[in-house]
Amino acid sequence: MLIPGIPLPFPLTWGFTTKEDPDSALPPVRLKQVHGCDLVEAGEQIQHADGLWTRTPGLAIGVQVADCVPVLLAGVVRGRPWAAALHAGWRGTVAGILRRGIAVFTGQGGRPEDLAWALGPAILKCHFEVGGEVVAAARRDPAWREDLAAPGPRGRPHLDLHGLLRAQALDLGLDPARDGSVVVCTFCSPELLHSYRRGDRHGRQWGWIRID
Ligand SMILES: [Zn+2]
Repeated sequence: MLIPGIPLPFPLTWGFTTKEDPDSALPPVRLKQVHGCDLVEAGEQIQHADGLWTRTPGLAIGVQVADCVPVLLAGVVRGRPWAAALHAGWRGTVAGILRRGIAVFTGQGGRPEDLAWALGPAILKCHFEVGGEVVAAARRDPAWREDLAAPGPRGRPHLDLHGLLRAQALDLGLDPARDGSVVVCTFCSPELLHSYRRGDRHGRQWGWIRID
């Protein structure tokens, strides 16, 4: 799934896969995702975390999702390309995985406003019914706005997780002109995308990125 053309900080390949992508087009598995907010430097081995970063050209890194939000970041630190892929479900989002990812970048010398960034297809507010405790946890986020949740048709709240991540991103100084997000609901797109909520127990799509 193509990311809209936005200014890129260096040559890179990035995107979000769909059911139409052959397995041969996918990056190797390097993560065992645990719904936390830890980020690690990518290597050849599989690591337990929810985010990967790399400065190695040619090393494709990615996360697998089926309703959670895949987040991709690309910027330059000390003259060298830097890329990251994050897995952001509601737990990771509320726990601050995007903040952690940006902190790794700035900790190495990057400036948030220079990052190109993209949130990928995920379950959107139209279908993301949650318990009140989830909204209560999200409401403690410094970037929270009340329009990010609203009662759904069954009376339970629907959460705009994409919107919360975007609010966090802008709060952290990311540039809206460098936002390549693809705002598509996984639940609403059964032909193209896997959705755990809709009943896909095993299928996943990738958000991935490679420094070229
Ligand atoms: Zn939907």
